[in-house]
Amino acid sequence: MESQVKLEFGELTIRFLSDGVWRNDGGCMFGVVPRELWRREHPADDQNRIRLNLTCPLIVRGAEAILVDTGIGNRLSAAERKIFDHGDGWLLEGLQALGMEPGDITHVALSHLHFDHCGGIVRRRASGGFAPAFPRARIFVQRGELEIARNSRNERLRAAYRHVHECLEPVAGALEALDGDTEIAPGVAVAVSGGHTADHQLVIAQAGGQALVHLGDIAPTRSHLRGPWNQAYDLDALRTMEVKAAYLAQAVAARWWVSFAHDERVFAAQVANDRGRLVLGARIDVPEGLDGV
Ligand SMILES: [Zn+2]
Repeated sequence: MESQVKLEFGELTIRFLSDGVWRNDGGCMFGVVPRELWRREHPADDQNRIRLNLTCPLIVRGAEAILVDTGIGNRLSAAERKIFDHGDGWLLEGLQALGMEPGDITHVALSHLHFDHCGGIVRRRASGGFAPAFPRARIFVQRGELEIARNSRNERLRAAYRHVHECLEPVAGALEALDGDTEIAPGVAVAVSGGHTADHQLVIAQAGGQALVHLGDIAPTRSHLRGPWNQAYDLDALRTMEVKAAYLAQAVAARWWVSFAHDERVFAAQVANDRGRLVLGARIDVPEGLDGV
């Protein structure tokens, strides 16, 4: 089946940008699943890292442009860039290729505040310091996520959010803290999922009888369509499983599209139930050569 490059639902046009390829530990990405099972589809390098993407759906409706998540951006130190094998400039180059500029983005919805989702909300200036990456955008995040990211005393959570001050301080005036499920633009809503973090949110774009759900880190790759395949990072893996099952059932029944935050091959797909196993149907592939190889 020929891969499409965009989705058109009524007045909404949805494209998929990437903030590039990166690598992360395969064990962290698949939690309780043994390496022997995940390495077939996701071969690990000599540091046990697998190849991942940083998918950012871009939903355009007239003059409104809603970006979902922002990838890693250019804020990592040279040492961190090496650990995650991440380059720079991808998301802004992708926008440019569409004839758009950072100032054209009117809304950013952040699924949660881990560095690989919110890092690109700021840009490191050549002169030092950070500036908002999308100077006109309103930025939507759940209030609970903001509070935990800024104030947790728990050692694990503090480490998971250690970048947050650097990312949020330059955009503080643009942040809008949400209390639960909210329509942020006509046809575009966020829905709280929990699971990965306590206040992780999904983004649902719906128009003309069609829909896309960006499951964020609830189903980061195509392999995570399987119930027990969840990240070791999940704070409540059972909740992740429940939410994932509910949305995937909806996606199968109503032919919703599902997009994957970190799949290195597939940006988004429709899913079908093949004798109890979820399989991909129509899909939008990540273009070859995204990382220059
Ligand atoms: Zn992630």
